[in-house]
Amino acid sequence: MRWTPGMLQRLCISRWLSLLHHVLGVHRWEQNGLEHTCHQPSLSDDEQERKRWLALDSPAFNALRTIVTNKNLLNDMKQMTLFKHTGTLEAFHSVMLKYVPKRLHFGYDSMRARTQLAVLDHNKNVGRQQATTKDGELRWKYPYSRQSGDWVSKPIYEKTTQSFRKDLMERVLEMRDDPTIVYTERYKTPHGRRLLQNIAPVQRPEKSLLVARRSSRFGSHRTKPY
Ligand SMILES: [Zn+2]
Repeated sequence: MRWTPGMLQRLCISRWLSLLHHVLGVHRWEQNGLEHTCHQPSLSDDEQERKRWLALDSPAFNALRTIVTNKNLLNDMKQMTLFKHTGTLEAFHSVMLKYVPKRLHFGYDSMRARTQLAVLDHNKNVGRQQATTKDGELRWKYPYSRQSGDWVSKPIYEKTTQSFRKDLMERVLEMRDDPTIVYTERYKTPHGRRLLQNIAPVQRPEKSLLVARRSSRFGSHRTKPY
């Protein structure tokens, strides 16, 4: 089946709106006489039970619904289906993670430089051709797709290159050797990599309180049970 622009637009909007069902814990519903399902992987009864779904007509759900069904947003989204594809954006995000791992904290300068490196890396590698074998045959891989619930074929692309780093280093050295460039800013020692202090949203209670809590949960013995 070939998708027409109108079909893509309707599909995009209906998937977007389907999230309003999903967040209520409703994964199957009827609309205009048709049965719809949400596109999340299905949940076990236990998972369905334990997730904290929003309640219909709660302030949180009403706020979300106002945003999700905003007319301007929906119109923009219709336009976007016609020319925007997220594959390249996803590829960029994964390159970003290489330079800016989420668990580390970086200062502003470092963050900017790392983002710039990610952009250079991405631009150098975006739009690679499908790889070929020695005999000139196109190369494919055959993963199992959870989304379609079946085995699929996907192209294998040519290897990425990091050659932009060498170009960059050469240009840095050239600039360093250029007597017409005068450096006025003093070199500041950058912050080292700093691990986040913690990921807790609330302050840690007193130590003694934590020990007391533990005792009440595990009994008072202080030796290892095994
Ligand atoms: Zn769902």
